Amino acid sequence: MDDGSMRYFQGFRCHYNDVLGPTKGGIRFHPQVTRAEIQALALWMTIKCAVLDLPFGGAKGGVVVQPKELSPMELERLSRAYMRSMADFIGPDSDIPAPDIYTNSMVMGWMVDEYEAIKRVRAPAVITGKPIALGGSRGREEATGRGAYLCIREVAARHNWQPDKIRVAIQGFGIAAYHVARLLQKDGYNIVAISDSKGGIYSDKGFNIDSLWEEKQNSKQVRAVYCEQSVCELVEHVEISNDELLALDVDLLIPAAIEGVIGLHNCDSIRAKTIVEVANGPVRSEAEASLAERGLTIVPDVLVNAGGVTVSYFEWVQNRSGYPWSLGRVREELEARMTTAVHETFRIAESEQRTLRNAAYVLALRRIGQAVQAHGTKEYFQNGDAQNSA
Ligand code: GLU
Repeated sequence: MDDGSMRYFQGFRCHYNDVLGPTKGGIRFHPQVTRAEIQALALWMTIKCAVLDLPFGGAKGGVVVQPKELSPMELERLSRAYMRSMADFIGPDSDIPAPDIYTNSMVMGWMVDEYEAIKRVRAPAVITGKPIALGGSRGREEATGRGAYLCIREVAARHNWQPDKIRVAIQGFGIAAYHVARLLQKDGYNIVAISDSKGGIYSDKGFNIDSLWEEKQNSKQVRAVYCEQSVCELVEHVEISNDELLALDVDLLIPAAIEGVIGLHNCDSIRAKTIVEVANGPVRSEAEASLAERGLTIVPDVLVNAGGVTVSYFEWVQNRSGYPWSLGRVREELEARMTTAVHETFRIAESEQRTLRNAAYVLALRRIGQAVQAHGTKEYFQNGDAQNSA
């Protein structure tokens, strides 16, 4: 630590499944990180990569820490220390980390630098979500939000939504939440509520997202402001808690913070018709049946927030080929992949009478199953007709 003292932090990295390729998934720094949580998140990464048809398995990492209490130097030492512990457990062909909650491109930059120092090679493809100057991809930062926006656009087309009639509440105001909010607002959606871990704001008239974001960068708070150039003034609003935000009478609810926020304790209070999961695992499985019974549509995390890992895949491809893509190409290929995955998920849901989450899992598990089979299963060899089956 900066004062010369020594502190130990507990950290994890889980490789859940690598049937489809090297494992992939972010590293979060959060005080509530547990081993079970990281394992669940690594399972979700496995499904997510398969839904998007990426040649990756699933992994996740985390450190039990409140990063807001660390100085920038302490954060750098912690990031490098994590990499020193994990350097033999990751690699461009085995396991590729990326940012997650409270980690960002700066943290990824320190980690890749540490990895390269340990291995004495240049290995940009070992981590994605890096600063562009160190081999990061254009469009990676906005990718999770843009992917979610593309998903919502498809849902909107199916429901014949008129954007200016759609009231949106967003729980969380991290990078993913900001970009999805910004893109929705550009299309005319009315963002009436937004929050961070400390609480939220509500206004019937809706907020200007870029103003809120600029203020959040400066003051680290969600404040109801409207800014012209750098002059910001307060606008009419009501302060609300995160629980109140989730219970608002809106058309579209976007949990974009952390897992488990909608459960048996509050599912009866949810009034939105559609939930789009930008966070990983915001709806607890116990609550899902009663929400579905009430006719709510839940667009699942493993599809909605997969834009992030998809552009991570593009970053890995760019690093390995040594040829950076233009922002236009990244956006185009993201759009193609996301819309294909959304269409495939809807097709399974409609033709097999499944919820969207169930359909996304079916899509993923069929792909993983095909790879298991292609690798050769016990049954396959025991049948003795391996050569004849073609
Ligand atoms: N942490 C992000 C996720 O949960 C991105 C993972 C990645 O890019 O590997 O999807």
